[in-house]
Amino acid sequence: MSAATGTLPPGDTSLNAGRRERELAELAGGEWMDLIVIGGGVTGAGAALDAASRGLRVALLEAHDLAFGTSRWSSKLVHGGLRYLAHGDLPVAWESAVERDILMRRTAPHLVRALPMVTPLTPLVSRPTAALVHAGLHVGDALRRA
Ligand SMILES: Cc1cc2nc3c(=O)[nH]c(=O)nc-3n(C[C@H](O)[C@H](O)[C@H](O)COP(=O)(O)OP(=O)(O)OC[C@H]3O[C@@H](n4cnc5c(N)ncnc54)[C@H](O)[C@@H]3O)c2cc1C
Repeated sequence: MSAATGTLPPGDTSLNAGRRERELAELAGGEWMDLIVIGGGVTGAGAALDAASRGLRVALLEAHDLAFGTSRWSSKLVHGGLRYLAHGDLPVAWESAVERDILMRRTAPHLVRALPMVTPLTPLVSRPTAALVHAGLHVGDALRRA
C-alpha cells in the first residue's frame, strides 16, 4: 500500500519508497487529512490532484501501485470512443464524444487536446478496412463537433 499526502518537505516531490514509508507512518500515527482517496487509478489520482490543488490535505491510498488496475490498459486517449463505434454502440460513442468535448473545452483544456494520428495502412490492410478506419476517425470527430 502506498500513500501520498498534500504536504511535502521542500524539494521532495518524487514518489519513492522512503517517502511512502514516512507518509504511511504519519497516517498511521493519526495525522489529520481532509480527504482520503482509495485507489490510485486515473479516477483516484485525478480526484486527489484536484482536491490537493484546492488546498485540501489529501491522502491517496493504493493497494498495489499507481495505475495498477484498469488504467494500465488504457490507450491514454480521452474517451477514444472508436471501439464503441466499431461495435456499433452509437449511444456510448456519443456519450464519450460529449464528455471529450467538455474535457477539451471546459474542464481540462490544459490537459486534453487534439492529437494528429498516424494509422499505418500497410499493404496488409485491405482497402475496405482502410476506408473504414478513415470513416471511423471522421465520424468520431464529427460526433464531438456535433
Ligand atoms: C483495454 C482497455 C483500453 C481502454 N482504453 C481507453 C481509452 O483509450 N480511453 C479511455 O478514456 N479509457 C479507456 N479505457 C477505460 C479506462 O482505462 C478506465 O475507465 C479507467 O482506467 C478506470 O480508472 P479507475 O481509476 O476508475 O480504475 P482503476 O484504474 O482500475 O483504478 C482503481 C485502483 O484502485 C486500487 N484499489 C482497488 N481496491 C483498493 C483498496 N481496497 N485499497 C487501495 N487500493 C485499491 C487498484 O489497485 C487500482 O489501482 C480502457 C480500458 C481497457 C480495459
